[in-house]
Amino acid sequence: MNNHSSHTSLRHSRQRDEILKLLRTTTSHPTADWIYQEMKKEFPHLSLGTVYRNLALLVEQGLVRKLESGSTFDRFEARLEPHYHLICSRCRVISDFDMPGYQEINERAARMTDFKIQGHKIEFFGLCSTCRAQQS
Ligand SMILES: [Zn+2]
Ligand SMILES: [Zn+2]
Repeated sequence: MNNHSSHTSLRHSRQRDEILKLLRTTTSHPTADWIYQEMKKEFPHLSLGTVYRNLALLVEQGLVRKLESGSTFDRFEARLEPHYHLICSRCRVISDFDMPGYQEINERAARMTDFKIQGHKIEFFGLCSTCRAQQS
């Protein structure tokens, strides 16, 4: 490996560390674009493609979770332990919802099928308090 390429990969892993750090400081389940805008303050030459590549790597390494939300943009979070999400159908804000019950539902499903259950995903949809206040 020559000097140039080792320098480049070092810089790339630093950017990856910064993305992870950024995700660990927010509970807003941001999009890649939001991460890109934040990161650009420190890495002005950063491209959105690099952010996507780093995010994909972090997901692959199991350090970041991707929330796939069909029609809208993918959101990311660094909180790995299982939890539910509340999604506002109007402003699209996603908040964490710590409602217990994970094991129970897995076991219940396991009893009903010969499928080997490894986990499940539930998203609650509705209106957040801000949107509700604006409505009334
Ligand atoms: Zn809302
Ligand atoms: Zn979450």
